[in-house]
Amino acid sequence: MTEYRTLPAGTGAAVGIKQGQRIEIKLAHGLQVVDFWSMNAKDHGEYGSMPHCRNKWFRLSPRKGDSIVTNKRNPIVTFEEDSSTGGHDTLIPCCDSKRYGELGVKGYHRNCADNYKEALTAFGIEPPPLFLPINLFMQVPIGADGTLMIVPPRAKPGDRVVLRAEMDIVGIMSACPHDIFPLNGPDCKVNDVDYRVY
Ligand SMILES: [Zn+2]
Repeated sequence: MTEYRTLPAGTGAAVGIKQGQRIEIKLAHGLQVVDFWSMNAKDHGEYGSMPHCRNKWFRLSPRKGDSIVTNKRNPIVTFEEDSSTGGHDTLIPCCDSKRYGELGVKGYHRNCADNYKEALTAFGIEPPPLFLPINLFMQVPIGADGTLMIVPPRAKPGDRVVLRAEMDIVGIMSACPHDIFPLNGPDCKVNDVDYRVY
């Protein structure tokens, strides 16, 4: 079984995962939202698509046993285990430089969009255009009037998600560097995350 590796807070990584292998993402160092993108290793134009997932699940968030499906409606990864109480966001695009500018940040702020590009480039793949990730552990409750809120994860430190690959995939993770809203935890702190492929 492959050793855990640490994804440093605020950074990204891409990993190859063969059909039948699993990726475990574990909150070993505290609460943290992890943006996760999946793409077909043999066809980078086929990727895990949140609108298609919501259509398939008829829910906003996956449960254990649900598969993320692609823009071609094929299962790409399955939630084999989820020790959090669930509630992973499928609505919000990943953070980027312009978003931090809108939030009043002056100068460069690390962001998931750049992490996606850097991770794929380091992995040796020309980054395809960004698409919606699943934001693991991120809570976006919806008010009765449709208002969206961003609140700290319901997950606890030590919680983990195990995703089984349904085809050969490239998985991209970003330990979201957002430290303005309490989406990574009530203290707005950004933490390392552990992961392994096995
Ligand atoms: Zn982010």
